[in-house]
Amino acid sequence: MDLSLEADKRIRASHRRMTPQRRIILETLDALDIHPTAEELLGRVQEVDSSIHLSTIYRTLRWLEAEGLVQARIFNDDRRAERFDPAAPGEHYHFVCQECHAVIEFNNLLVNAIKAQFELHTGARVDFGSVVLYGLCGDCRKALLAEAG
Ligand SMILES: [Zn+2]
Ligand SMILES: [Zn+2]
Repeated sequence: MDLSLEADKRIRASHRRMTPQRRIILETLDALDIHPTAEELLGRVQEVDSSIHLSTIYRTLRWLEAEGLVQARIFNDDRRAERFDPAAPGEHYHFVCQECHAVIEFNNLLVNAIKAQFELHTGARVDFGSVVLYGLCGDCRKALLAEAG
């Protein structure tokens, strides 16, 4: 999804203006293929404009979240590691590397089967699902194997 483009539309619709700082934050978030924490995003953003503060990052992220353009996610039990996910339309799931903290997105139709089976057995209605798998990403796994010789 093109975050900047979507955000532009929302801003114009509400008759506000896009600040240059907000633009940099959006473009940086768009270009990152990770689900960054606010601090990680700050690091990248400051490579472009070192005057941008963490408070501005958070304000922008909360605004994007309220607009439904970004989802805040917490993986593991680490409450400090809230990560921001430019929300693609439709549900998707995540794999988190325990070594390098890479986040890999995936879709899996089998999750629909789990939902359907649960509904059948319980009479409940499932609205959405959240699946997070943890382990070693391909690169980290290769590095570990190379180390072991
Ligand atoms: Zn995601
Ligand atoms: Zn990894």
